[in-house]
Amino acid sequence: MSQYPNLEAALKYYFGYDNFRPGQRQVIENALSNRDSLIVMPTGGGKSLCFQLPALIKKGLTVVVSPLIALMQDQVEALRKNGIAATFLNSSLNSYQTRSREQYIIQGKVKLLYVAPERLVSDRFLPFLDLVHHQVGISAFAIDEAHCVSEWGHDFRPEYRQLILLRKRYPDVPTWALTATATDRVRSDIIQQLGLKEPSIHIASFNRQNLYYEVRPKKKNAYAELLELIRETPGSGIVYCLTRKKVDEITFKLQHDKVSALPYHAGLTDEERTQNQTRFIRDDVRVMVATIAFGMGINKPDVRFVIHSDIPRNLESYYQESGRAGRDGEPSRCTLFYSYGDVKIIEYLINQKSDSQEQLIAKQQLRQMIDYAEGTDCRRTIQLSYFGERFTGNCGNCDNCRYPKPVQDWTLEAMKFLSCVARCKEKFGMGHIIDVLRGAKTQKITQYEHDKLSTYGIGKDKSADEWRMLGRSLLHQGLLEQSTDGYAVLKLNALSWEIMRRQRTVSVAVSVTQKITWNEGSTQATEAELLLQRLRSLRKKLADEQSVPPYIIFADSTLKLMAQVKPQTKDEFAKLSGVGIHKLAQYGEKFIAEIRAYCQELGLQEQKTNPTSFVSFPSNTELQTLELYQQGLSISEIAKKRNLSPKTITGHIANLIEKNQLGDLNQLVPVEKQQKILQVLNTLGDVALTPIKEYLGDSYSFEEILFVRSKWRQHSRN
Ligand code: ADP
Ligand code: ZN
Repeated sequence: MSQYPNLEAALKYYFGYDNFRPGQRQVIENALSNRDSLIVMPTGGGKSLCFQLPALIKKGLTVVVSPLIALMQDQVEALRKNGIAATFLNSSLNSYQTRSREQYIIQGKVKLLYVAPERLVSDRFLPFLDLVHHQVGISAFAIDEAHCVSEWGHDFRPEYRQLILLRKRYPDVPTWALTATATDRVRSDIIQQLGLKEPSIHIASFNRQNLYYEVRPKKKNAYAELLELIRETPGSGIVYCLTRKKVDEITFKLQHDKVSALPYHAGLTDEERTQNQTRFIRDDVRVMVATIAFGMGINKPDVRFVIHSDIPRNLESYYQESGRAGRDGEPSRCTLFYSYGDVKIIEYLINQKSDSQEQLIAKQQLRQMIDYAEGTDCRRTIQLSYFGERFTGNCGNCDNCRYPKPVQDWTLEAMKFLSCVARCKEKFGMGHIIDVLRGAKTQKITQYEHDKLSTYGIGKDKSADEWRMLGRSLLHQGLLEQSTDGYAVLKLNALSWEIMRRQRTVSVAVSVTQKITWNEGSTQATEAELLLQRLRSLRKKLADEQSVPPYIIFADSTLKLMAQVKPQTKDEFAKLSGVGIHKLAQYGEKFIAEIRAYCQELGLQEQKTNPTSFVSFPSNTELQTLELYQQGLSISEIAKKRNLSPKTITGHIANLIEKNQLGDLNQLVPVEKQQKILQVLNTLGDVALTPIKEYLGDSYSFEEILFVRSKWRQHSRN
């Protein structure tokens, strides 16, 4: 039995959620026991809740340290939408606003205060903090993005170093440090630099199950594939590019192709960047095309896809950047476009570095990135092993698990390729070798008279992409060498000769060019989708009225639930995950009204039960009706006998048909009529009775249509 049995109730009351995410409960219990803690959770793990809920339960004020103004404002806004007394103090406020907020705090009216580290430790602020501690009590310091304290992290902020001062000034106030950093070194640095005392350490798994990972070969028409990908993936997304130039280029093309997209990179003014970012967060624009300058401090939870159009610097960056998808736990997609040409560019850049140690590290990181991109194992296994986490087996949610690449014997092709390298006297790169194999007519071929070689044109049966894949595979398997002088000249080694002498075979994992379609996980009925569209519009309208991002009103998952369950009363609405006491009061009526209107328009009000949870077994009263029906009684006779209305009995019969208890309709509806009604249903789909009747005319009764529709439903469910 837990020490805190009512945490779930508090979670539902304040935040509207039904269940804790993995680890949250344990972290919160630790926090409530007044211990220092280090909490490591991946992006989207739900870290904020780990200090917000204890802050609400504990007496006094919880002080949250956060590095960016945008992050603070975002969190405070989200908390306030849940009716929680939260506020921030930072340089965006004038002195009047600051004083009035401080007043509130001293009066004990605030539960969570967000501050930047430099303000917190300033000479002006500390006396105020003393006063707060004396008057209302400080319940804890929550240090968000705690990796900023470490030089080994990717975002060192010297101001964070001074936070140790709090430890000395308020020794009895617990400190909670939170981060998504994956490396050990940074973790131990945090403990040391913040002076955590025997902290409880919680490290969550870095496996983000809701993210689908895939790597696609970057072909010549990569843009067309990118466009298709964006078109088939609904919702917001980020496209990362290596250079500003490419960001501008892709943004331009997307806009031209009617995809709403905006750029983000260091070449824009601060104002432009902020504006573009806000428009993305508020769903005014769907796609952000960006350099890696974009992302830190973006809390948008409903990013549905992250596409890397170029290779990332290393696997950790890739994990963090792609991890900006699906923070809300909904299925999301991470796609990496990979080409060996990109690798060459990065290699070239690395070779420009003057520091040889730096060069070495960068090369090793690039190597790992290549292994990830070209690997045929589960993508998760590769990623998680990089973070020292063991994940064995098949995740079922990456391209390699869903579409394993068949391994084929390509010994013969390898022999052709390698002997072509030999005939060209090991003086040329991959592109030229492939040209020769495929019998191209280039200037270089004429110049060197390579069209006279015996290997000229012997590889016409394979595409250039296929030859390239083989060439790369040979390189990675160490069966061929490549010069590192920047020219990438192909060279043979001992193993190459073994292949040519038929002493060694070559296996290649072949990427089959199949069209991979990605389903969003849950397949919803189109009808629920239509309603979802309307609920989205309502959410956007309310959000715009209040100048907040739509997700602050309700998360995507909550809207989806609404569209499925279609609650038409406040009680039903309150049960949805994501609807807390405050949001129920604020938005309940508006959303219920929208759902009601929708159901009425479609004539769904007669259907009380949610179709997906339809019980397939008949109820007792239905069984009694069935018995009498089988004895040959008519509907009106059954009604009389059971002292019920004929309408009720008709309903029973319809349900019995739908539950497959009553197969033969011929006694109820003439056969020709059955066929006609079925035709209409197949055209119109599962609609209300009225439109069907309108279609068919007066010679068809409602009952007849109802029975056939039940039969049709029963069939279409199986
Ligand atoms: P992190 O800071 O770890 O990246 P957040 O605290 O921003 O994650 O949470 C990510 C998203 O998950 C937010 O939209 C948040 O509202 C949601 N969330 C957090 N905890 C829960 C929960 N127990 N149930 C449902 N959603 C949750
Ligand atoms: Zn996998």
